[in-house]
Amino acid sequence: MTDSLVVWLVSTKSVGGRKVHGCGFKGDDRSSMSTHLDVHNPPLGNICIVDTTCRDGEQMPGISFTLEEKLEIARKLEEMGVEQLETFATYNESDRRCAKLIKAQSKSISVMGWNRMVKADIADSIGNGVDAVSISTDTSDIALEHKLKITRMKQLELLADCVSYAKDQGVYVCFNAGDATRTSIDYLVEFASVGKEAGGDRFRICDTIGVLTPASSKKLVHSVMSAVDIDVEFHAHNDFGLAVANALAACEAAAPFEDRTLWVSTTVNGLGERAGNVSLEVFVMNLHSHYGVDKYHTEHILPLCKHVEQASGLGIPLNHPIVGENMFTHKSGIHVDGVLKNPRLYEAFDPSKLGMTRKIALGKHSGKASIRHKLDQLGLAAPPSAIEPLRHEVSRVGEMKKRNITDEEFVTIFNSVVPRTNANDPKKTVAVDASPITNMPRS
Ligand SMILES: [Zn+2]
Repeated sequence: MTDSLVVWLVSTKSVGGRKVHGCGFKGDDRSSMSTHLDVHNPPLGNICIVDTTCRDGEQMPGISFTLEEKLEIARKLEEMGVEQLETFATYNESDRRCAKLIKAQSKSISVMGWNRMVKADIADSIGNGVDAVSISTDTSDIALEHKLKITRMKQLELLADCVSYAKDQGVYVCFNAGDATRTSIDYLVEFASVGKEAGGDRFRICDTIGVLTPASSKKLVHSVMSAVDIDVEFHAHNDFGLAVANALAACEAAAPFEDRTLWVSTTVNGLGERAGNVSLEVFVMNLHSHYGVDKYHTEHILPLCKHVEQASGLGIPLNHPIVGENMFTHKSGIHVDGVLKNPRLYEAFDPSKLGMTRKIALGKHSGKASIRHKLDQLGLAAPPSAIEPLRHEVSRVGEMKKRNITDEEFVTIFNSVVPRTNANDPKKTVAVDASPITNMPRS
């Protein structure tokens, strides 16, 4: 066992009146790992997740959730074991009612209300029952000059005032540096120090326009955690496609700080402003498969993602990592032949971990193994001499239609091919209308 394979300390911290636990690297359990090379991944700090599907996710253009949809998101996040969710708890009646009802139904998950750095907003959120608040401002020079039109000194005054006010109300407080990744580290450290001195529990680093890389994420988180003794949250955006990688780098940067927690902000299906946030499902499966973190219940991932897909109206792309339908759908002849012999040949993890099932698709590059599999699946009998003609016809039709072919189309192909090679086979079955394949509508 390498030095990196150690069991990491389990932290216990109070968030909204409940204990949250850091992650553990199960050094003696490699069953969830994707490759023997995973042992070279650096250790992680104590990790917790705050999911912001109901806040940043809903800020995505075109997305609006109903009350019941948000309540169901909250229930499913809790089932997964996510420690905290962030939602709007002020600004309109529907968000106020939603925050109250989410809090009322929650058993273990902490409910955080998002706020501008304005005392009246914070008071409103707390009045709607949340046990935690996030207090947000932007710290970059461009935001101070062109958006907020205040000095750093004034911003620090407001920060101390708002954080101490919220703490006096007895809630857990996270204070946020928007556009932190275009803010000087010196000012970020000063901002974090002032927020901590005012009683803040956690400092959120926001990569608001998604410009970090894994290396710069690691450096930034390590620098801030080294300078200020406070829990840190990493809120990443995916403008360059690096949000999950950056979040994992941030988790690695937190490893030396054993008595603290690194929170990662996520959204289901990666919803969020522009290119979105850290995808919850992708982040959790990376923790599980590459770092041995097993505290989240992966079997609840798919129902959650499907619910958010339906509620958001934004379909999960077929090739989306982790929960895209193509993750466990195989088509090319070489891959199907391999998967049918041993699924591990072409699958990074077992689909049953997510409640998913394996599918064999038929199309242009299907091989004989796919044909035999489909014949068995549909209860069709064909002599060995018919397999190659079937494969040829499936390939021709798949290319012509520019998509996978359906079971009905396969039966039609079967009926057009097998009678010529197996006219007297009594086991041959005809399940559906055998209209000529060229007359089928394209979809
Ligand atoms: Zn954001």
